[in-house]
Amino acid sequence: MKIAIYPGSFDPITNGHIDVIERATKMFDRVNVVIGINSKKKTMFTENERLEMVEESLSHLPSAQVAFHSGLIVDYAVDIDATAIVRGLRSVTDFEYEMQIALMNRKMQPSLQTVFLMPHEKYTYLNSSIIREIARYKQDLSEFVPEPVERRLKEKFDY
Ligand code: ADP
Repeated sequence: MKIAIYPGSFDPITNGHIDVIERATKMFDRVNVVIGINSKKKTMFTENERLEMVEESLSHLPSAQVAFHSGLIVDYAVDIDATAIVRGLRSVTDFEYEMQIALMNRKMQPSLQTVFLMPHEKYTYLNSSIIREIARYKQDLSEFVPEPVERRLKEKFDY
């Protein structure tokens, strides 16, 4: 059984993340989406809200699972017998940052491979912080986020 993990903050999950997860589920038997818990990082959504949004948005993918993790991602991967870490690559700016993390993770855990997947080009400019920013101005985000996220953003910003 080939298991991969897909770590991130998912504050909130976007259609770009989902695109990457869908591609990953075609390559691995199970994809564990891991929501990073970092008490120092201020997030718009609570841990539970982020978990609910990810779960509801991935209900069409039976091989995708969701969990929290607060420590080193490589430790978590080893614990659940994952062989790969999936990351999304949108641009060259992502590449420099991602390469640093991938090489450091490989140093710590040489048996784990980082796999980079490119989302559909329509999601290249999409990230969670742009979504958080635009939601404040009560804009239509249905093209960029799944329905469970759109609903919560509308509740939060009252539109
Ligand atoms: P982080 O806070 O670690 O950047 P994110 O939840 O924003 O966490 O991202 C997790 C992963 O998803 C990263 O590999 C990131 O490059 C990727 N990602 C984020 N947005 C997109 C997108 N629009 N398309 C494809 N991959 C994305």
